[in-house]
Amino acid sequence: MGLLTFKGGIHPNDGKALAKDQAIRPAEAGDKLYFSISQHIGAPAKPVVEKGDHVKRGQVIAEAGGFVSAPVFSSVSGTVAGMEKMRMPAGNLMDCIVVENDHANEEISYEPAKDWRALSKEEVLGRIKDAGVVGMGGAGFPTHVKLSPKDPSAIDYIQINGAECEPYLTSDYRMMLEHPEKIVEGLQIMLSLFPKAKGQICVEANKMDCVEKLQKAASGDSSIEVRVMKTKYPQGAERMLIFANTGRAINSKMLPADAGCIVDNIATVAAIHDAVVLGKPLMERVVTVTGDAANQPGNFMTPTGMLFSELIEQAGGLKDDFEKLIAGGPMMGFSVFSTNIPVTKTSGGILAMAHDDVAASEPSACINCGRCVEACPEHLIPTRLAQFADNSKMDEFRANDGMECCECGSCSYVCPAKRQLAQSIKSMRKMCLAAAAAARAKK
Ligand code: SF4
Ligand code: SF4
Repeated sequence: MGLLTFKGGIHPNDGKALAKDQAIRPAEAGDKLYFSISQHIGAPAKPVVEKGDHVKRGQVIAEAGGFVSAPVFSSVSGTVAGMEKMRMPAGNLMDCIVVENDHANEEISYEPAKDWRALSKEEVLGRIKDAGVVGMGGAGFPTHVKLSPKDPSAIDYIQINGAECEPYLTSDYRMMLEHPEKIVEGLQIMLSLFPKAKGQICVEANKMDCVEKLQKAASGDSSIEVRVMKTKYPQGAERMLIFANTGRAINSKMLPADAGCIVDNIATVAAIHDAVVLGKPLMERVVTVTGDAANQPGNFMTPTGMLFSELIEQAGGLKDDFEKLIAGGPMMGFSVFSTNIPVTKTSGGILAMAHDDVAASEPSACINCGRCVEACPEHLIPTRLAQFADNSKMDEFRANDGMECCECGSCSYVCPAKRQLAQSIKSMRKMCLAAAAAARAKK
């Protein structure tokens, strides 16, 4: 039998050799940290500190602004210097609480659970909520909300996304290799919330060392299976992962819970473990700094609020002639033009490339080769969608399932005419979503 997978997808150079053998090491926080009040989907957090306040590491500095929201914690001790707007990777400006680090490392005391198995479901969810855990794979959806579906008995699978199919990034790989017990116990905590669910830790075949470690950590627990998937991009996209492991299909109007699944990534499960078992809030995460223009690629346990520039310095700085800097991976990350950007709960990587292949390539006319159609994991016709997008034909774009695009970038990657299909489709999706939101607001 072949490995678990989906139809379509691509096989880009994975670039992981640059950082995969670098063990996670702590990044040293700088003198000033910038904590965005919106590191999650939902209502921004509300600051609860004022200029001049002294704060400790692990202290709440902004509380959740609603049910779909998450609190923000200081990752250092020091003095609140006020609020400042900072640029985020997507280019938007965000209000940030600025803390001047006193480098004294004073930390609040946490309340570990004596035995998390003795906690009620409400208590488990409460600890996850209070610790500010959100989806750390990029989405930032508050985890306590995701783990509270309408009908918990309708959930058949909790799937942990260990694919890390985005090229170059190795933070999840290192977490699986160095902390497999934490991931297994985090999954056991999640499973305790659902009466019927089984656990699946889904890993790509290029990480068999992680598979072995996870299998060992999960041995003796028949409710957890470590599954090996084909190494293919975008194997870790939610819909592809669900399909590969259950044969169930969802579309953009459905949630994974509609297919009886809940999907979370490796870093999030580790954060669930720390929240419930140790009582520790989410205030640091592993960030991969890599690329052929990074002097010393590595994986860093990074305090949130730390600037990209400081983290890059700790990775030995960048080569003088670098051309492109990306927040995240090369397929779904954002090109950034400044390193004055703070790390948030959802920052997985910083990629420095010596050559900007995208900027160097000149798009030409479509030759109707069909490669983009073959590569599209959503079975769309990217060339047609991009045409609708370029000509502002919103109705036609929608009618041809443009909203089903998961923005994976596979179509642009394979196009021999170097057409920026995904970019056009992504912009049009944004316009459609904005139009739909405006229409809803009018009603
Ligand atoms: S159309 Fe969307 S889903 Fe399909 S390959 Fe392009 S970016 Fe990916
Ligand atoms: S891959 Fe490029 S050239 Fe080929 S059909 Fe798609 S848009 Fe046209």
